[in-house]
Amino acid sequence: MNTLLPVASVGSLPKPSWLAKPEVLWSPWELEGAALVEGKQDALRIAVQEQRRRGVDIISDGEQTRQHFVTTFIEHLEGVDFENRETVRIRDRYDASVPTVVGAVSRKQPVFLDDAKFLRAQTDQPIKWALPGPMTMIDTLSDRHYKSREKLAWEFATILNQEAKELEAAGVDIIQFDEPAFNVFFDDVADWGVAALERAAEGLRAETVVHICYGYGIKANNDWKATLGAEWRQYERTFPLIQKSSIDIVSLESHHSHVPTDLVELIRGKKVMLGAIDVASEQIETPEEVADTLRKALQFVDADKLIASTNCGMAPLPRDVAYGKLSALSAGAAILRAELGEQA
Ligand SMILES: [Zn+2]
Repeated sequence: MNTLLPVASVGSLPKPSWLAKPEVLWSPWELEGAALVEGKQDALRIAVQEQRRRGVDIISDGEQTRQHFVTTFIEHLEGVDFENRETVRIRDRYDASVPTVVGAVSRKQPVFLDDAKFLRAQTDQPIKWALPGPMTMIDTLSDRHYKSREKLAWEFATILNQEAKELEAAGVDIIQFDEPAFNVFFDDVADWGVAALERAAEGLRAETVVHICYGYGIKANNDWKATLGAEWRQYERTFPLIQKSSIDIVSLESHHSHVPTDLVELIRGKKVMLGAIDVASEQIETPEEVADTLRKALQFVDADKLIASTNCGMAPLPRDVAYGKLSALSAGAAILRAELGEQA
């Protein structure tokens, strides 16, 4: 376990082909019943083993037990009707058929607790668990009950806080909230988005992360990115608010994105999970490329606060590519660690 420049992935990793169809998002399960339960656990074991073999320090579940980073959580809540679907525009970018909120939302039982306990049993290394953030949850739903994005976000934040506290009690060291919606709805982020996120993280002793990204390398996202111009300055709107928040760690995109690295200065004082791996390309980075990306960031974040990471999840990539990228990430972090050691 490296304490300087630890290596982590943002979240999802490809699933084995016997569990779900590879290289697609929302892929249906290939197994059912007891075989599915066992298959998910076997996939999780493999994900842990591969991360350790590739030099990852902060281990995640690779999201092997969930179909989608938002809907799998929502499926377990009361007040949401999955039969009654409506088409809405997601992230202001693409249309999707989503479930409808038809009554008061609540969590009747823990959603990921058993999976997190299973992950905890696989390794003594620090473990990280990802949950959807409140704003991203409401952006993946149609709401006919609350008729207020803010009210519904607050309800979800309370539910997420219950779940996060149980994950923490099960031994999860780091709890991550995925908020890609923070890169789109800037006025809402300022009005209530950061407050709802802090509510979700309230009272946790575990470290907390907010992951804000430009999405998986799918066509709708790639088309959107093409409209964002030469410099992506979206973080400039949200980072000053997050810098003042109670969240400990910020996960952001860097490598091959058009995000100016100096925006990292805006979250000075926070730990930074810097994306040094492009998840929208099947080209595996060289360790030197990874080291270059991390080295650039060191002008804006103290070395003891830098975590080497990926830009986003890698679920849609071929398996060998995703794991090759994890190896490159740790090799790149090792180059920089050696340089920093020489200076010390
Ligand atoms: Zn992401």
